[in-house]
Amino acid sequence: MSNNRKPLLLVLSAASGAGKSSLCRALLARCSDIVYSVSCTTRAPRGGEIDGKSYHFLSEEEFQRRVASDDFLEYAEVHGNWYGTLRQTVEDAMVQGNSIVMDIDVQGARQLRQRLQRLPSGSVIRRGFVDIFIQVSSMDELRRRLEQRGEDTPEVIEKRLANAEREMAAVPEYRYTIVNDDFERAVDALQDIVEKEQAV
Ligand code: 5GP
Repeated sequence: MSNNRKPLLLVLSAASGAGKSSLCRALLARCSDIVYSVSCTTRAPRGGEIDGKSYHFLSEEEFQRRVASDDFLEYAEVHGNWYGTLRQTVEDAMVQGNSIVMDIDVQGARQLRQRLQRLPSGSVIRRGFVDIFIQVSSMDELRRRLEQRGEDTPEVIEKRLANAEREMAAVPEYRYTIVNDDFERAVDALQDIVEKEQAV
């Protein structure tokens, strides 16, 4: 659906367990002109995840083939698996005048910023770039959420927590920060940012 608002390239990053996926879903339910950027990954699907909707689940070989073909706008290794955003996914959405929301890690966000710097300042993708970091109040809270989610082995949880410390250090690189302690308030804050940026 096209409209006269500025199409955004919304980048959401967070430590896993900070509620980023739920926030993304809530934003998409509220805003019909935003599409979700389905990433590629080499990790195995978790319960309920659908290929082509949650992620494009690729073999390591297929992922590396796409890297060699320069198909990714950005890609990174996170928790021992590869993740990447297809250039085509973003271009298709923005050409149609839609905004797109990407759930990517801090390394991917850095790559994207560097790549956008090389585009002309008037380019739609560059003008639409908005990066937001979703935080939780403490590491204890993050641990509690990951354990409650029950989707990862204790070993993977420890890996995610160690990674979270590194991810939190990247907060100053982001234009916006949202603390997701109260879910509804966090969704409102996200929607406010989107509406403000679409109107610029
Ligand atoms: P999960 O395995 O929990 O779905 O995601 C793990 C991490 O990978 C999250 O921090 C998520 O933001 C990140 N991620 C998901 N898709 C991409 C992507 O396309 N690119 C990058 N750089 N990170 C991604």
